[in-house]
Amino acid sequence: MRLSRYYVPTLKEDPADAEVVSHKLLMRAGMVRKLTSGIYNYLPLGLRSINKVANIVREEMDRAGAMEVLLPTVQPADLWQETGRWEYYGKELLRFKDRHDRDYCLGPTHEEVITDLVRHEIKSYKQLPVNLYQVQTKFRDEIRPRFGLMRGREFIMKDAYSFDKDEAGAEASYWNMFEAYKAAFLRIGLNFKPVQADSGAIGGDFSHEFMVLAETGEDTIASCKACEFGANLEKAKVAPPTETGGLEAPCPPMEEVSTPGTHTVEEVCGFLGISADKLVKTLLFVVDGNPVAALVRGDRELNDVKLRNLVGGNEIEMADEETVKKLTGAPVGFAGPAGLAEDVPVYADHELLSATDWVAGANKGDTHVQHLSLGRDCKVEAFADLRVIEPTDPCPECGGEIEFKKGIEVGHVFKLGLKYSEKMEATFLDENGKSQYMIMGCYGIGVSRIVASAIEQNHDENGCCFPPSIAPFEVCLISLGGKDQDVADKAEELYATLEGLGVEVAYDDRKERPGVKFAEADLIGYPMQLVLGGKGLKNGIIEAKNRKTGEKTELPLEGFAEAFAQWRKDIWNGWGLDA
Ligand code: ATP
Ligand code: MG
Repeated sequence: MRLSRYYVPTLKEDPADAEVVSHKLLMRAGMVRKLTSGIYNYLPLGLRSINKVANIVREEMDRAGAMEVLLPTVQPADLWQETGRWEYYGKELLRFKDRHDRDYCLGPTHEEVITDLVRHEIKSYKQLPVNLYQVQTKFRDEIRPRFGLMRGREFIMKDAYSFDKDEAGAEASYWNMFEAYKAAFLRIGLNFKPVQADSGAIGGDFSHEFMVLAETGEDTIASCKACEFGANLEKAKVAPPTETGGLEAPCPPMEEVSTPGTHTVEEVCGFLGISADKLVKTLLFVVDGNPVAALVRGDRELNDVKLRNLVGGNEIEMADEETVKKLTGAPVGFAGPAGLAEDVPVYADHELLSATDWVAGANKGDTHVQHLSLGRDCKVEAFADLRVIEPTDPCPECGGEIEFKKGIEVGHVFKLGLKYSEKMEATFLDENGKSQYMIMGCYGIGVSRIVASAIEQNHDENGCCFPPSIAPFEVCLISLGGKDQDVADKAEELYATLEGLGVEVAYDDRKERPGVKFAEADLIGYPMQLVLGGKGLKNGIIEAKNRKTGEKTELPLEGFAEAFAQWRKDIWNGWGLDA
């Protein structure tokens, strides 16, 4: 490709609305342009990177035995009504009507459409398992589209769906995709970590998110320094306490104490002169319409996903003021486990087993209780892991040290079980002629988000440093020919040589100043730069720069092809990649 004829509208300044570096650089390098909030045009260079990511993903999906299809973006409402998601999905689902007044939506994901396809086509166990995937534009009307391609409203996703005849098969399909994802992200050159994610009602360890580690990530993950353990915060288990004698331990009689105007943990502790770990915090929730109380230590944070899973519900929300008043007979801020309304089950974090003699709300305005014993003064339904992990907690798997890291979710694998096949009657006849539901899994990769994440991970003050596997072009050949015809001729010859080698070259043959060419090559972030000038030509060499490390070497013009091939191989290897 000749840059003199290519469309690369670079910008000198960062766009005003760009907060993160990938958004700034994608705009400045002329790779994308915003059409409207969360919706982007992909320009030639940007599209090349996106396509490279998509093709690596395709190759790994094909290798894993999945088959590519392309499903419609426009989806009829009746499929979504069958699964109940027409109501459930909320405002992220963009809905519209056709000329016959029928309801449709733009696909944010394709479980309904794929299940509809498969239930009509697949009838026998002999046709299973099957795994179908697509690379396609999705639309989600995100409440806060931001960060350029990281959180768009329209974006490109690879989504795959597996259908199996039994549990063992479904599990195998799941781990097959897990491995395919690892292979794809390695080839893309990302520094990533698969982490355990909540699988809701499905249970088990059948959901993982693949996180690209980057400061600008919106997600926090707990990661063990000693072992492989990693989990997102809503999933991360907290190890049970080593001391568990709290229920039987001696405790003075419980008594009320007046705590006027104290509503928060800090205020109560300040007033009573105690530390927050001496207090039991009582939180009231409503799970699928039923009230539930949860107890955690005053200095801890309750994990509502863990509570919901323990109770076995679908939807969990904090009780509103009115409900709190009804259940406690007191204003918000004075709830406690002793003397709550009879029908409210109380669940406690297992850390509370380790001690006794607590302070808690008295279910009475401006009043708390002291010397509360959870074994003596109230009824606790169950003690379980209910709080959010903290960096000071030990690793739940090996006891090692935990650290928190920021991550960008680039992929998600999920065992769906019968969630969709039951609702949509996706059945097959098994070996005995008996009708069974298919067991499903779904697997997503954020293709366009990956290009942004790669930049978040690989950039410097001058611009992008693309991994060679997904760079828009691998090499930028810069001719400093100017009026020097010999240099210009030799550059043309090298361009032809590189093209002949099958290398993707951006050939900078423009009549621009050297400084402009260098700056643009750095900004766009081609992994390899080759610079031919008059002096080099005289000395029989061309200057070669590794964009990521900044390392410069000279390659001989005599025997250039071999020398280049070796240098290129070294650069790929430096990224941990095979050329
Ligand atoms: P998030 O929590 O970031 O909103 P999600 O859980 O909604 O993601 P999935 O439904 O699992 O995402 O979609 C699969 C993949 O699609 C995600 O792992 C992510 O890489 C990508 N993705 C999701 N939403 C967006 C978006 N708004 N813009 C770009 N990529 C996205
Ligand atoms: Mg989302």
